[in-house]
Amino acid sequence: MIKTGFQLNRRWAALATGALLIAGSQLLMVNAARAADGDVTEYTLKNGLRVVVKEDHRSPTVAHMVWYKAGSIDEYNGTTGVAHVLEHMMFKETKNLKVGEFSETVAALGGRDNAFTSRDYTAYFQQLQAKDLSKVMALEADRMANLVLSESEFEKEIKVVMEERRYRTDDQATGKLYEAFMATAFQANPTRTPVIGWMSDLEAMTYKDARKWYDTWYTPQNAVLVVVGDVQPAEVKAMAEKNLWQGKTQEAGRAQASRGAQARGHTPCAGKGTC
Ligand SMILES: [Zn+2]
Repeated sequence: MIKTGFQLNRRWAALATGALLIAGSQLLMVNAARAADGDVTEYTLKNGLRVVVKEDHRSPTVAHMVWYKAGSIDEYNGTTGVAHVLEHMMFKETKNLKVGEFSETVAALGGRDNAFTSRDYTAYFQQLQAKDLSKVMALEADRMANLVLSESEFEKEIKVVMEERRYRTDDQATGKLYEAFMATAFQANPTRTPVIGWMSDLEAMTYKDARKWYDTWYTPQNAVLVVVGDVQPAEVKAMAEKNLWQGKTQEAGRAQASRGAQARGHTPCAGKGTC
């Protein structure tokens, strides 16, 4: 009996322990989820820029990103690849910065920066010490509003992009296959065109195409600012509101966003390649 009782007790103890462990682990999961959720703060500035802040105080660093809601699916046939070309041009000149000064400034602060273009977004980021956040935010705000798209710089950079296409697609069997697959699978949808663009479109593209893309999509209303790292949401908000993202007025941004919406409504041709 004692033995049985002991076994029962052990069984109950095991059940109780298991229940406690399950409850405990669920509690931890809930707490972890709450902590993660609670650390995210979102708001929209007066000029329409949406801001998302995620606190992460594990190290005194920050990741600062601007996502534009425009990518290759928003392109017209004839200028495919322009979203990605503009991404390259964003590292050139502004009314306040010389060619290449953007990345040089980030590097001088000990940070790194880059960008990437996809089918439905184009994103720019910097990673650096949290104390220098306001400096890179000012740089991003500047190039959202004040980009200088000179013909001479464009003519140099479009050759870089063509070489990128040769390197990643034309000289890669898998790259060519994937491109042909997408163009075949999607007959009447902009998803069919490669993000880097058809070579014939790159060859025909001018700085005016890049300028039009910039004017249409690069507005506060069409962007999301994401800040993750050793920051306080209130400080980020004050920083963003104080002197940044004001280059384009709300009215100008609204008009540009409207043009962007019209562009989204386009129907691309169904033929393969450009037309
Ligand atoms: Zn590129």
